[in-house]
Amino acid sequence: MQSTGVLPGLGLVVMIGLGVATGAAVMTAIEDGGGLTVPVAWGGVAIGAALALGWLTIRRLRAILWVAERLSQGELGATVANSGNGLLGRLERSINAVSAKLTETHNAATTDLLTQVSNRGTILSCLFTEVDRAVRHGRPLSVAFVDLDHFKVINDTHGHQVGDVVLRGVAGLFQASLRQSDVVGRYGGEEFMVVLPETGPEEATLVAEKLRLLVQRHRFTASEGLALGVTISIGIAGGQGKSLRAESLVRDADQAMYSAKSLGRNQTYVFEEPNDDARVPSAPISSAGRARALQVAAIARQATEAALSEIIAPLPHYRGKPSQLIATVGVAIARDLALPEREVERIRVASLLHDIGKIAVPEQILEKPDALSTAEWDFVKQHPRIGQVILDEAGGLLEAGKIILHHHERFGGHGYPHGLRGRDIPLGSRIVSIADAYDAMIQDRPYKRAINHDEALVELRRHSGTQFDPELVDIFIRLFAEQPPVADLSLLAPRAIASERSRGTQRRASA
Ligand code: GH3
Ligand code: MG
Ligand code: MG
Repeated sequence: MQSTGVLPGLGLVVMIGLGVATGAAVMTAIEDGGGLTVPVAWGGVAIGAALALGWLTIRRLRAILWVAERLSQGELGATVANSGNGLLGRLERSINAVSAKLTETHNAATTDLLTQVSNRGTILSCLFTEVDRAVRHGRPLSVAFVDLDHFKVINDTHGHQVGDVVLRGVAGLFQASLRQSDVVGRYGGEEFMVVLPETGPEEATLVAEKLRLLVQRHRFTASEGLALGVTISIGIAGGQGKSLRAESLVRDADQAMYSAKSLGRNQTYVFEEPNDDARVPSAPISSAGRARALQVAAIARQATEAALSEIIAPLPHYRGKPSQLIATVGVAIARDLALPEREVERIRVASLLHDIGKIAVPEQILEKPDALSTAEWDFVKQHPRIGQVILDEAGGLLEAGKIILHHHERFGGHGYPHGLRGRDIPLGSRIVSIADAYDAMIQDRPYKRAINHDEALVELRRHSGTQFDPELVDIFIRLFAEQPPVADLSLLAPRAIASERSRGTQRRASA
């Protein structure tokens, strides 16, 4: 870079002009017999030339100074045009050499030597900068954590050099395929971090899945005849605006990556907050615990899906029978689009059960051979919405999930997982907490002997207001002071839909 203002150029022209004009005026004076001698005239020309040369020197010095100032402010790549020999030429060359060294040193300090992507310090400082920006402007931001699967095996089988080739190759693929605004860095041995500005977790998942498939399809040539394949596991965490924190993004993306590992590797996993109130922070759980939870949840989902399919399986096609053909086509298209596995799964279930809402449409309408009346047609048109209600309500366990999450909070605070206090703890959790504690008191545990019903009442009252909601303790005592509770076995069976509805109304009223 060089200073190329119009003014310095003008100055030079003016100086040369002055010199030439002085010379010309003197010459004219001589010719006119003005009494001046020739040496005096040449003296005038020399002064003009000296002034011009001085101006030129000052101009080059100013250009050098300008670059020196840029470099002192840490601007990389600033150079001055080298316009000749002499002292100034040497100075110009030296300042350019300093600039080149500065760039080299900066790169060495910020780039990972092996993979040529940002090193850990740089990617982290980039993350902090981007989080600041996203918080300030309320913009989305995501982080992807990438870990090579079973990389140790590659090192152990083929040696570290081959491992290095694969690491370089993976980094190269990332660099080549990520968007201009995304930044990739090597976070550790075979772990990379990608910062995705202006990107929410959904979109980040699509980007990550593209990377994953790219790596999976690539063959890394380590030596003649040795082409290796490798897969990656990716964890995503993201959010928008004020909710973003660099530390939690790193922690959540890392946790999501470990979930991807424990679910079988070669996949992308998005960190999700537990489904609780937005005002409370997320409850971290171990990746092993999360994996087991997801396994059990998958079994529950399969059971729900099977139960719903069973209801509509005997129906004819036009009345909502689950269609394997539709599911096959839906899944094929979703896979072709390289959608994340979770989205593919959602599309599979929706394809199979898309017409389940037709079970609520009267049989005579669906079986009617003639054209439908307007009223009948209006009924038929409700089936997508009815289908959605069926699936939403089938997933109604979500509401119980929130109660479970908080059932070890303490009324006075300092419980877990969130340390909520008083009425911030959901009513259901406060109720379950008392019932659970009572049940624990009256039974033998490996670590303590059971106490009797009356002693349990005393114990509940003793912790009323600190551990338990005092109003609920009063209700418990009113209900069971005379007669201890007796387990009602019918409560183990699923509640009928009607009573489920009335519970829903009560819940809203008390919220
Ligand atoms: P997982 O799927 O669970 O991630 O299995 P893994 O084998 O990849 O996991 P682990 O963390 O046990 O192994 C990581 C390996 O990465 C171990 C280490 O030798 C290797 N590694 C770390 N840094 C480098 C490096 O710079 N070059 C090479 N070649 N290998 C490295
Ligand atoms: Mg690792
Ligand atoms: Mg690994």
